[in-house]
Amino acid sequence: MLPIEKSCYWLANRQGRLPTQKLSGPTQAEIAIVGAGFTGLWAAYFLKELKPEIDIAILEQGMTGYGASGRNAGMISNCIDHTHSLAISHFGQEEAAKLAQLGLKNIDELEAFALDCDLERTGQLFVALTEKHIEDLKSLMAAAESLGIKGYQLFSREEIRQKLNSQLYVGGAFVPGGGILDPIKLVERLTEQLKAQGVRIFENTKVTRLAPREAITDSGSIKAGKIILATDAYTHHLLPGLLWRFIPLYDYILVSEPLTDEDLEKIGWRGREGIVDGRTFFNYYRLTKDNRVLWGTSEAVYYPPNQVGPQYDHSDHHYHSLKISFERHFPQLRKLEWPFAWGGPIASTTRLTPFFGSALDDSVLYALGYTGHGIGSTRVAGKVLAHMALAKPSELLQLKMVKEKPMPYPPEPFRSISVNMVTDSLRAVDRGEKPNQLLRILDLMGIGFSS
Ligand SMILES: Cc1cc2nc3c(=O)[nH]c(=O)nc-3n(C[C@H](O)[C@H](O)[C@H](O)COP(=O)(O)OP(=O)(O)OC[C@H]3O[C@@H](n4cnc5c(N)ncnc54)[C@H](O)[C@@H]3O)c2cc1C
Repeated sequence: MLPIEKSCYWLANRQGRLPTQKLSGPTQAEIAIVGAGFTGLWAAYFLKELKPEIDIAILEQGMTGYGASGRNAGMISNCIDHTHSLAISHFGQEEAAKLAQLGLKNIDELEAFALDCDLERTGQLFVALTEKHIEDLKSLMAAAESLGIKGYQLFSREEIRQKLNSQLYVGGAFVPGGGILDPIKLVERLTEQLKAQGVRIFENTKVTRLAPREAITDSGSIKAGKIILATDAYTHHLLPGLLWRFIPLYDYILVSEPLTDEDLEKIGWRGREGIVDGRTFFNYYRLTKDNRVLWGTSEAVYYPPNQVGPQYDHSDHHYHSLKISFERHFPQLRKLEWPFAWGGPIASTTRLTPFFGSALDDSVLYALGYTGHGIGSTRVAGKVLAHMALAKPSELLQLKMVKEKPMPYPPEPFRSISVNMVTDSLRAVDRGEKPNQLLRILDLMGIGFSS
């Protein structure tokens, strides 16, 4: 199998990388950040905004964007929670309204920053495969409208097929505000700005141990007043105690050859929206700038016990299932070839949104657990972390999402058993069965399992 740098469409087409350096010997900084994904890069960006003279060093085990930030689908939503309905059920109406406003502001600011990152505010289409999905869509719309989010549109079977021609679709909805971007261009845009501001970025520098105010690597160590841990699905390698609060999962994606004009004619999709279908384990998909289909699934995979690493960057079994699901949606494009295929790690929480905290005498700060929705929320998390690190007051620090931790996951072996039971139950729902007792109980407790 090809290494991730060649198999991931974004990484393989990455351009303009500046020369990189590895940490060597002991050094120090005011703030050290572990992880050069969106969380770490945005944290540095906001630290520089709050205190321009601050000395920051970022330590990254691979290259910038090596983790989920360089491997995701690039679909952005204006909601920083998983959905507006979940925001209401987890945090209450008033707090959900604040999160909704924050999400809108966040995506506008992201768009202004990501000018050359192929960001297209096309919105999203939610497509329904069953009548039940249409009812679910109506509830989603009602929840969004109750928070003051406008612009949703419900579509009949004929209308949705005008927008995207699949015989499976029985209806759908337009969800405004979000869109698509090239995630690695956003990584590069942030990196370029931070380097110009004097932030030191050490690549191929794996932190092997944390001590209060010190991060130790094989090739040197760094002392810092605060260390920001921006390692998402890898976090338990350095702070194993946090495993109570998240589960590392793998998501897999295919990217096709470019569609011809004739292919595009067969399926419509003139609006280039990001698409999500209504199942619990939904397919998500979008077009790239050069009109390739990026096809993924939210049925993320758990490798017990909490394993994360390059050995899981590929899974033939999941690539096969992805191809089959694409052919079910679009049999008219059955002959399409898929030259890019890869996986990446995400950290999921029981409430499907991130959590925040500190460790080791408050010298280490962390934010993780974005599930499959981190492009927007990592930007907010970066701002939260920057305020925490500088002890600057901010309304963001008062958010329930920031102050409260999600319900814990059980440890092994109960973790694997419960993941299997929940996965089986959710698959049954997607086959049209009613939610079983397990799912009803989890629902009452506000617990989810998905990417
Ligand atoms: C396949 C896939 C599809 C996705 N699709 C979407 C989508 O369409 N929309 C959306 O909003 N979100 C999506 N996501 C989720 C989103 O990509 C993540 O939530 C987000 O990128 C998390 O950013 P992060 O910086 O916290 O973590 P990461 O990007 O994973 O960064 C963590 C970094 O820490 C580094 N690191 C870890 N341990 C160490 C160590 N010991 N020493 C030094 N460095 C270390 C890693 O190498 C990595 O670069 C997707 C994720 C995947 C995997």
